[in-house]
Amino acid sequence: MTGRNNKCPICESGAVLLFAEVKDALVHCNTLWKSREMALKARRGVLKLGFCNRCGHVFNTAFDPEAMKYAEEYENSLHFSPVFQDYARSLAVKLIERYGLYEKEIIEIGCGKGDFLLLMSELGGNSGIGFDASFIRDRNDSRSRKVSFIQDLYSEKYAHFKGDMILSRQVLEHIRSPRSFVRKMRSATGSRPGAMVFCEVPNFMHTIKELAVWDIIYEHYSYFTPLSFRRLFNSDGFRVQSLEEGFNGQFLCLEAAPVENMHKTAEEAPGLDSLMREVSAFFHRYTNKIAAWKNELEKIAARGQRAAVWGAGSKGVSFLNTLKTAAEIDHVIDINPYKQGNYVPGTGQEIVGPEALREIDPDLIIIMNPIYTSEIWETVKRMGLKCRLLTA
Ligand SMILES: [Zn+2]
Repeated sequence: MTGRNNKCPICESGAVLLFAEVKDALVHCNTLWKSREMALKARRGVLKLGFCNRCGHVFNTAFDPEAMKYAEEYENSLHFSPVFQDYARSLAVKLIERYGLYEKEIIEIGCGKGDFLLLMSELGGNSGIGFDASFIRDRNDSRSRKVSFIQDLYSEKYAHFKGDMILSRQVLEHIRSPRSFVRKMRSATGSRPGAMVFCEVPNFMHTIKELAVWDIIYEHYSYFTPLSFRRLFNSDGFRVQSLEEGFNGQFLCLEAAPVENMHKTAEEAPGLDSLMREVSAFFHRYTNKIAAWKNELEKIAARGQRAAVWGAGSKGVSFLNTLKTAAEIDHVIDINPYKQGNYVPGTGQEIVGPEALREIDPDLIIIMNPIYTSEIWETVKRMGLKCRLLTA
């Protein structure tokens, strides 16, 4: 097979099967643009997904870390949705109760805008330090005296910060060297008794099962399966205590305790063969789904109907770009006020708030994440709109 890097980043095996290729994937799905002209020039790259025959990991063998550069305009906060807030809150409560996180030190690597760390602090009286290059100082920084933020990528130079709980949510899948990232998490636990890590990533099994093809994005180098996620932590100084699905199966949530003596054992990977069959069939199903959507959008355009997309996150941007919808879809809705007024990279639609729907009066709203359907339905009903809702 060809590709930039064929070696599995989890187990270092070279037995990697290339199973999917996307030629002109948008490099940054969550970088917003202030003008349509700039948005249309957004950079594209090649995705070549490989499956590791030894540990069950999936990754983009053509990933170019140089193409990725995160800055403030990286807007990925999901905290404006009540459904997401409920999820975050119940997760925070679970972690606090399970590990007795009251008046403890919490470190979050890749804290985004800081919402979850602030929640952990508020609910448990904990102190916290959050690291993120895309942190925006005036949005959340003044909300708590117990939490501070460092607007930088977490690296060795912050190794003197130690925590009782090290959090990392929706970060590891972006990292070119997941093993060195996990070793940094291990070092951040120091020698504190009872210290734990919590790590959350998108669940590739959900992508396969639900055919959530819009989740395949350039920003993600890794696509974790339970097999590869568990193996990663068990090989780098941890013992996995819990590995669960979260957010209706969309996430994998792992809790692990540091161990002193690392002893490497040849790990069994039960279910690897059936996983390989599912992964191999995925790209064919992916291609069929894209074709069906292209057909659907052509029919909508032919009928002269107005369609709006709800959700300008990575799924929405991926949907709009994969289907090259610049002509068919004029409106993209998002409840995050920091996204509104910006333009979708690649296809150039302006992002507007739900209230704009009164004027748009769409015939159809395409929902990017089914978990928000009832939340969106309530809004649409309240506004008295008569339109069809369709899940992408
Ligand atoms: Zn592997």
